[in-house]
Amino acid sequence: ARKGKTPEEVVKRYLQKVRNPPEEDCTICMEALAGPSGYKGPGVGGVSRAESVGRLAQCGHQYHLQCLVAMYNNGNKDGSLQCPTCKTIYGVKTGNQPPGKMEYHVIPHSLPGHPDCKTVRIIYNIPPGIQGPEHPNPGKPFTARGFPRHCYLPDSDKGRKVLRLLLVAWDRRLIFSVGTSSTTGESDTVIWNEVHHKTEFGSNLTGHGYPDPGHLDNVLEELKAQGITGEECLP
Ligand code: NAD
Ligand code: ZN
Ligand code: ZN
Repeated sequence: ARKGKTPEEVVKRYLQKVRNPPEEDCTICMEALAGPSGYKGPGVGGVSRAESVGRLAQCGHQYHLQCLVAMYNNGNKDGSLQCPTCKTIYGVKTGNQPPGKMEYHVIPHSLPGHPDCKTVRIIYNIPPGIQGPEHPNPGKPFTARGFPRHCYLPDSDKGRKVLRLLLVAWDRRLIFSVGTSSTTGESDTVIWNEVHHKTEFGSNLTGHGYPDPGHLDNVLEELKAQGITGEECLP
């Protein structure tokens, strides 16, 4: 947890108080906003009153305060909050990517569909390890398959922009996660998070290759959904 900030304090930073809740349900607990929170789990006893309702300052969506605190406690408690309805991010979202290395260099060849530029190769390397409190099974080992993983971007203006944002995503631990691989079914292993990468260079046998005209725009959208917009790269 953040030093000096309780989960309730973190959540309240992003909320405006609602005195007269509307006649709608809270979409976290499915109970009326005008009544008490339906959340029954641990961790919110002592957190204000079950009737307290807050409005998220930017998007305006309303929830029971206890429901938002419970949701925050279920995440990695990094000081950020994401609206479960519209996905607006409050604060800086970070993930639970394990320690490792991200490197890149230019290779003097063109990708299918990008004949006019060279290529950036990104190399991710993550070793196996032990899960931390931010992972699904703390204390249990996790495996790391297929590393180093090589990924490719065109060395164009837009490709370079994507690279800069991927470096931000890496620092925020958002490129990989620990969980169950949808490809292999293995649990407690390092998996790609929500940002797609192209891992084939000259072919497209897996569907994770080129050509793919929409790829860079798709990745920019996926990065935006993680709260990475490009603003953070301006001087
Ligand atoms: P996953 O299968 O849970 O999928 C998560 C996301 O990654 C999905 O969006 C999926 O579309 C995407 N993805 C899946 N395969 C990809 C690939 N080859 N290139 C780029 N994106 C891919 O995630 P995961 O388990 O991390 O990904 C599986 C891939 O990881 C395998 O295809 C392989 O490249 C590598 N891997 C290798 C071994 C090995 O023993 N060599 C084992 C497991 C995984
Ligand atoms: Zn609720
Ligand atoms: Zn919202």
